[in-house]
Amino acid sequence: MGLTDDPVRAAADATAARRLPGKVTLVGAGPGAADLLTLRAARALQQAEVVLYDHLVSRDVLDLVPADAELVYVGKASGSHSLPQAQIIELMLQRARSGRPLVRLKGGDPYVFGRGGEEAQALARAGVPFEVVPGVSAAQGAAACAGIPLTHRDHAGAVVFATGHLREDGRGGSDVELDWGALARPHQTAVIYMGLATLPRTCEQLVAHGMSPDTPAAVVERATCADQRTITGTLRTLPQQVKSQGVRSPALVMVGTVVSLHGELAPPAAATRCGHGPEAG
Ligand code: SAH
Repeated sequence: MGLTDDPVRAAADATAARRLPGKVTLVGAGPGAADLLTLRAARALQQAEVVLYDHLVSRDVLDLVPADAELVYVGKASGSHSLPQAQIIELMLQRARSGRPLVRLKGGDPYVFGRGGEEAQALARAGVPFEVVPGVSAAQGAAACAGIPLTHRDHAGAVVFATGHLREDGRGGSDVELDWGALARPHQTAVIYMGLATLPRTCEQLVAHGMSPDTPAAVVERATCADQRTITGTLRTLPQQVKSQGVRSPALVMVGTVVSLHGELAPPAAATRCGHGPEAG
């Protein structure tokens, strides 16, 4: 019997191959409601032995992970990082090398903000095989569940996803500035992630770069969750409305005339199928 015909040896080889260098699945958890997960994401969660998850992942999604799997919270809320990004990456590489199926579970889509791209680069550079499972990003969840069709053809021929949370330069400032002129273009919808703290400045800059202060704008808080809230106004009024109504993260800012369709298209609160419960963490 040749070596390759030896089933015990073959099984041992297969185990060794599986243990080194491990495999990571970067999974998009979607914006909150568990039934917005892709089937591929649900399958990866059901097969996971280790799950590293973020602040924005809902309890309903975590409930799909087998009870005997190791659940590790590495969540980051803007301004209160539980683990610095470098440590998250180190932990992920170290756990991946154990060879157990590891899921890195991130809110929304792994490659839309949230630094999934950096985590994928770290895996690629360390030679750890990985797969990315896309998720419904918050912009898509908010659009559907707040009745704001991002590219309704009467209103917008483009949609821009931007971040309101700019990378710090270590000296108390930001080393990146948004291209306000590009964000303020007509016939376009701008969606700003992590934009609550900088909302007054965003509205001010968009007007300074040519948008009418009466341009419709909205904030969608906890999109797709049972307690989703949508606040609509204009670039002139929105910052004050958001302040007086105590809007909290996670929330998305949406700017453009598509926001005016919210009144017609928002699902009635009682009929919403957007979500099932509170977040984890
Ligand atoms: N990868 C994620 C985004 C991570 S950045 C995605 O694709 O959705 C985190 C920001 O996403 C939050 O600050 C907020 O602006 C937005 N966000 C995430 N989930 C949200 C939700 N359920 N409702 C509104 N905004 C959300």
